[in-house]
Amino acid sequence: MSNVPVAVVTGSNKGIGLAIVKALCKQFPGDVYLTSRDPQRGQAAVAQLQQEGLRPLFHQLDIDDLQSIRALRDFLKEKYGGLNVLVNNAGIAFKVDDTTPFAVQAEVTLKTNFFGTRNVCTELLPLIKPYGRVVNVSSMVSSSALGGCSQELQQKFRSDAITEDELVQLMTKFVEDTKNSVHEKEGWPNTAYGVSKIGVTVLSRIQARLLNEQRKGEHILLNACCPGWVRTDMAGPKATKSPEEGAETPVYLALLPSSADAPHGQFVSNKTVKPW
Ligand code: NAP
Repeated sequence: MSNVPVAVVTGSNKGIGLAIVKALCKQFPGDVYLTSRDPQRGQAAVAQLQQEGLRPLFHQLDIDDLQSIRALRDFLKEKYGGLNVLVNNAGIAFKVDDTTPFAVQAEVTLKTNFFGTRNVCTELLPLIKPYGRVVNVSSMVSSSALGGCSQELQQKFRSDAITEDELVQLMTKFVEDTKNSVHEKEGWPNTAYGVSKIGVTVLSRIQARLLNEQRKGEHILLNACCPGWVRTDMAGPKATKSPEEGAETPVYLALLPSSADAPHGQFVSNKTVKPW
């Protein structure tokens, strides 16, 4: 088994994830795994970074596929005996002019952004070693979507006592409510992506609390963040930040020094803790 520290970035064959891998290859003292659901796209991205003199490693990972997540888990357990840095970056968004029915957009978006990310956390968080760092890439849209929720939902999502099961029930209810065309009546905002990212931010707060309760003394720091508005296939060419600039906050959180005890359980944007 290797004692080399290891970092994994989900959805890193392009966009912000690729820029995070690039930065980690330069700054993280260990093995950095570029992962992709499609091995060809992943290997092409590895080859691109190799051209730049960087040495990322590759592992397949489709966060929608539990078998794929578990294969990565078993590989990390066997080769490294755990994991030091996990960046949950993989995500999807329908374009604003997409005519796919809203209920379908809700189901598909929540499946990857919330349920897929949660499944990765369920399988990989137990592997995180002491002083490990976990970064869940959410979005400022999670904050604006929270503001668009009913008072009752806002209270639940801001609660310091909400459980992961309760969060899962709420995310499931959103999808059901869109199918029954009652989501607005039930207090939800009209954004599937926004609700999926509320899920990511609240999940991060819950996971950080559980780490405090169950693994106190291991100095693991886990946060959600927004990369900013970044020029990628998701956000388009008009966005204000380059992928490298978008990677800055996730990389800052992934590389928090071992002496740091904060931020933890926060929502971070531009390297600054934001109120939730
Ligand atoms: P992007 O260019 O569209 O890249 C998304 C990445 O996620 C791709 O590598 C994609 O792989 C991967 N992915 C999607 N579904 C996956 C799955 N089921 N399993 C594994 N990988 C999957 O988007 P981006 O702008 O870099 O976004 C990265 C993260 O930042 C997302 O979580 C996004 O919500 C968040 N974010 C972005 C912005 C922005 O302005 N761009 C703002 C706030 C937050 P494929 O190539 O196979 O599709």
